[in-house]
Amino acid sequence: MKDTLKHRGKRNQLAGAVAAKGIEDKAVLDAIRAVPRHLFMDSSFEDHAYQDKAFPIAAGQTISQPYTVAYQTSLLGLKPGDKVLEIGTGSGYQTAVLLHLRLRVYTIERQLELFKKTNLFFRRMGYRPKKFVFGDGYKGLPEEAPFDGIIVTAGAPMVPRELLSQLAIGGRMVVPVGEEDQTMMLIRRASKTKFERQAGGAFRFVPMLEDKG
Ligand code: SAH
Repeated sequence: MKDTLKHRGKRNQLAGAVAAKGIEDKAVLDAIRAVPRHLFMDSSFEDHAYQDKAFPIAAGQTISQPYTVAYQTSLLGLKPGDKVLEIGTGSGYQTAVLLHLRLRVYTIERQLELFKKTNLFFRRMGYRPKKFVFGDGYKGLPEEAPFDGIIVTAGAPMVPRELLSQLAIGGRMVVPVGEEDQTMMLIRRASKTKFERQAGGAFRFVPMLEDKG
């Protein structure tokens, strides 16, 4: 599959739709315009790629809705060069948006099938996260901490404690919290021991699962 002018036109419209839903961050909208979402999905679903909807990918998972990706990314409030940890690589679409913002990206996926598929895809496309790890996102990446931002792209039953401890002072974590439906939580680490929490919109993600061991 290729990226054509037609795809670019559709992405412009998609970015417009995402902006109309309240996303103002220009760099994030530019990333939505730039990242060829159709290439992150099975070629037979190409027609769905530029609708503002989540869509099934391999292993019973989903590629997040573009609005959700834009919303979570803008809540992070990061600048080029910042270090970000993503939990739930999935298709790699959110990862590519973070890379487009010139962030240093570390990303974790726990399903081997998806990890392998997306790893090949990143190589083929020239997407270069600093690290792409097959493992359990609840544990984070303590050896690479602290992170300026942490973004969780699966629904967590509660805020993962380990991840809080891997935030830099002044860093932010964006995590959808809840079982069936989730509330987007924005948590800012104000000091070593103080975390400020703010609740955002309601979402529905696939569940963040514990390591099978
Ligand atoms: N950002 C992705 C979203 C994929 S859906 C995209 O836009 O494509 C959520 C992903 O989180 C799935 O791929 C799922 O396998 C993964 N996941 C679930 N629990 C996890 C955990 N504990 N650690 C790491 N990844 C996890």
